[in-house]
Amino acid sequence: DSHGIRQVLRELGVEAENAAYSTGLQWGGAANENSRTVYSPVDGQLIATVRLATTADYDAVVTTAQEAFKSWRLVPAPKRGEIVRQIGNKLREYKEPLGKLVSYEMGKLLQEGLGEVQEMIDICDFAVGLSRQLHGFTMHSERPAHRMYDQYQPLGIVGTISAFNFPVAVWSWNAMLAAVCGDVNIWKPSEKTPLVAIAVQHIIKDVLRANELPEGIFNVVIGEAEIGAAMAADPRVPLVSATGSTRMGKKVGEVVGARLGRALLELGGNNAIILTQHADVAMAMRAVVFGAVGTAGQRCTTTRRLIIHDSIYEDVKSRLLAIYPKLPIGNPLQEGTLVGPLIDKQAVEMFTKALAAVQAEGGTLLTGGTILTGDQYPTGTYVTPALVEARNDYHTVQEETFAPILYLIKYSGSVEEAIALQNGVKQGLSSSIFTLNMREAEAFLSQTGSDCGIANVNIGTSGAEIGGAFGGEKETGGGRESGSDAWKVYMRRQTNTINYSDQLPLAQGIKFDV
Ligand code: NAD
Repeated sequence: DSHGIRQVLRELGVEAENAAYSTGLQWGGAANENSRTVYSPVDGQLIATVRLATTADYDAVVTTAQEAFKSWRLVPAPKRGEIVRQIGNKLREYKEPLGKLVSYEMGKLLQEGLGEVQEMIDICDFAVGLSRQLHGFTMHSERPAHRMYDQYQPLGIVGTISAFNFPVAVWSWNAMLAAVCGDVNIWKPSEKTPLVAIAVQHIIKDVLRANELPEGIFNVVIGEAEIGAAMAADPRVPLVSATGSTRMGKKVGEVVGARLGRALLELGGNNAIILTQHADVAMAMRAVVFGAVGTAGQRCTTTRRLIIHDSIYEDVKSRLLAIYPKLPIGNPLQEGTLVGPLIDKQAVEMFTKALAAVQAEGGTLLTGGTILTGDQYPTGTYVTPALVEARNDYHTVQEETFAPILYLIKYSGSVEEAIALQNGVKQGLSSSIFTLNMREAEAFLSQTGSDCGIANVNIGTSGAEIGGAFGGEKETGGGRESGSDAWKVYMRRQTNTINYSDQLPLAQGIKFDV
């Protein structure tokens, strides 16, 4: 136990073997054979075995959540905000161990693990403020002595399906907003990262207990895809928020759509940075390299394509070729590391397959693409980030490979040509341009510019502030979470009209006597 993980698990109260589901105050689960072993991608050690919930367990959780909703929706929104404020404070207390467990279970840098917990804390603060600001508009009625206004009401159960790469932050973006909105939560975390979800549920439990809140406001169900699928099909869950691959999102979106439920989809990206001839290339390199290799290329906002003006192409290429071989790859818990491991061997296989495929299509592998071995790299999940010269229309380039591959793509004409390449993929999450030319920057942000949910100028594609609405267009799924007015999806909107006159005027001039 070289990383003190047993101590971390104890501190977080993680008793994995009891963990099929939790409705808030305690853990439960029908006896069954289904369990899953969780190995760390950092050193290959077995961290724990978790029990997987059955669909009967899932059903029991939904029943409890439905019951909890009856009382939670009556708690005034600012009082719900007070509970979220306390959750944020508990997360501050547990930031160190939780951040470390995120890093060890998922494989991201320790600093990123801590950063993810900080994001949870920040969204709690945001949600607390929001709890006094769930406003709608008032409108002037066209009828005399009538008043008309919007009201936002709690929706019910919000089901959140999360991905392995942001194993806790993305859940909190959903759950904390949903909580102040008066909804109750059921979380189906990634089966690859169940332990951090169990840890978070323990942290929340203390707050629920201290405030004598009922079971069922925050629930977690540990399971694989079939639990997510059950949630998607369940008419008792009015909103399903699903983060993960486009393949998963198409299934979930179809099933939720078939019952006319609401789906908030946060799916894959294929993000590009445009470097025009007016770019500050030296500054751009920081954004490009971190965007491409950070989190070992496993962010939905990872920079996957670099669209470079031919006048600076060779300069950019040689700068990258000087940086890539020196990247500090290794144990993400150790200071100084920039690139940690991929999540598992299957991810490594996708990485090497994509590199073989792109070369077969005519791409040139410039550097990287190897699997590291030796004592420092005990798991077979550490790889050297790859740089590939490619064309945008290659099949491989059109797909999101969830690994550190950066495709260098040349353009020679105007910024419009670069924008067409940037938009010329199925996904539409994050995008960026580096230019000091105002016309280029504004063209990129205009209605004929980037078609993505996130469009940045002189900032890379990866990462985002919680204050903005986060999400993307096209095959990224169209959902928006986190800041701005993303909260509205967690509520049902009602238009209220009140007549305080003694007349009942009818629309369209209809006249009749009763
Ligand atoms: P994944 O699609 O394999 O799994 C995500 C979650 O969906 C897991 O909890 C899984 O159990 C569940 N799931 C899988 N199939 C399902 C089904 N048929 N019905 C219901 N649930 C199902 O994704 P992953 O490998 O964990 O994560 C990586 C992917 O997530 C990448 O594509 C990445 O771009 C994307 N991602 C997107 C965002 C975003 O905000 N847009 C954020 C993080 C990750």
